[in-house]
Amino acid sequence: MNCIIFIVLSKDLSRFARNYVDSGRYLQKVFPILGIRFISINDNYDSLGVNHQANDFVIPIKNFINDSYCKDLSVKIRSNLDVKRRKGEYVGAYTPYGYMKDPQDKNKLIVDEKAGETVKQIFSLYKDGKSIGQIADYLNNIGIPSPIEHKISSGINFETSFKTSEKAKWSYNAVRRILTNEAYIGILAQGKRGTPNYKVHVIQKRDENDWIRVEDALPALITYDDFMSVKNMLGRDVRIVSADAEANPFSGFLFCGDCGQPMVRKTVPSKRKKYYYFVCSTNKRHEGCSPHNMSLKELTRTVKNAIASHINHILDLSKTLEYIEKLPSANRLILDYETQIENMEIEIERLHKMKLRIYEDLTNGILDKQEYADFRQQYKMQIEEKSNLLERLRKEKKDALVSNDSEKVWVALFRQYENIKELNRRVLMALIDKILIYEGHTLEVVFRYRDEYKRMNEIVKCNANLLPRVEG
Ligand SMILES: [Zn+2]
Repeated sequence: MNCIIFIVLSKDLSRFARNYVDSGRYLQKVFPILGIRFISINDNYDSLGVNHQANDFVIPIKNFINDSYCKDLSVKIRSNLDVKRRKGEYVGAYTPYGYMKDPQDKNKLIVDEKAGETVKQIFSLYKDGKSIGQIADYLNNIGIPSPIEHKISSGINFETSFKTSEKAKWSYNAVRRILTNEAYIGILAQGKRGTPNYKVHVIQKRDENDWIRVEDALPALITYDDFMSVKNMLGRDVRIVSADAEANPFSGFLFCGDCGQPMVRKTVPSKRKKYYYFVCSTNKRHEGCSPHNMSLKELTRTVKNAIASHINHILDLSKTLEYIEKLPSANRLILDYETQIENMEIEIERLHKMKLRIYEDLTNGILDKQEYADFRQQYKMQIEEKSNLLERLRKEKKDALVSNDSEKVWVALFRQYENIKELNRRVLMALIDKILIYEGHTLEVVFRYRDEYKRMNEIVKCNANLLPRVEG
């Protein structure tokens, strides 16, 4: 492609236009196709008093020049920022609450100790069953400056629509934004907003898929596990969760096993103390289903037992895995898989080659058309069969590989609650996804990390032949 660069000084521009260009339209349409780039060093050529004859050319030329210059510059700035974003470097003007720019490196974020503590406190309060509104009130009452106030007091020139005399308080949205911000688990998501292109200057929200997300880009304040359990709860019906989360640790966890709707709490006053039980919300609204009654006392007892037995089982499995891991035969099993996989790959490759060769045999007249078709079909079937086998071997090898580090993390989480005395919301948030209540005083506890648990079971099952037999 031609790349002719005209550098035109302003006083030459009208002459240039007269001599070389039929019209501005020509310049705009044809030059880019030819790969010609037009650069004017001085942008003030308009003020030179271009004669009327040339004016018709100059206006489009000026537009064209501005346009390509802006486009070029815009693309350069964008790609530069994107490169930084992809590297996990912070390029935003304002830091997320809880962080500040590293004085040594403006593209790096470090923890702002004071605000960082508030972030941790917010998560902790939510895990204890405080609603978002209650957390906002609490922070306002104890006089913690809201994120906006914090920005102002940190000396950041922050434009806000609030009047300066009025203190910006913690709001529902401010607290919720913190509970959902991935920055606190070390994920830096940038490019959430931007102008669609260099011509439109309105900043718009970008699709989440277009954000640039980099993991471990900044120090985490919250564990991944805590963040996910909070996220899980935030996704539930807010009214149900926040209505009595503090008084009722099960709020947001209970669902009717039959209609899937949340269970709601009912209170029966008695002489000495209140008596609580749960009932299907569909049934309470008289819209069908059945009551699925269960008292708080029974629920607490049953869930506590379910947790204890689940943890016991996990710890048993974990011990078994450790045993398998130490067996020399287990390693041999994995090595065997590797050899088998390698052999299978060689075999498939050989069959592919054979399949190609019979075509040569056909063209050389060694095989006739019918023979060729038969052979071809045979090879095709064999390749298919071996490929399936290969797939199975790969999967089995994966299952035979004993526990990895991420497995140890979730097992450790459950281990922490091995001897719980009291069933509070914190325990539920850590271990349980939801609880389904069926008729006839039956319930199903859906634990967190169920995929990992299932996988652990499968690994143990797959290696069962390596375990010592228990007599009797
Ligand atoms: Zn129901």
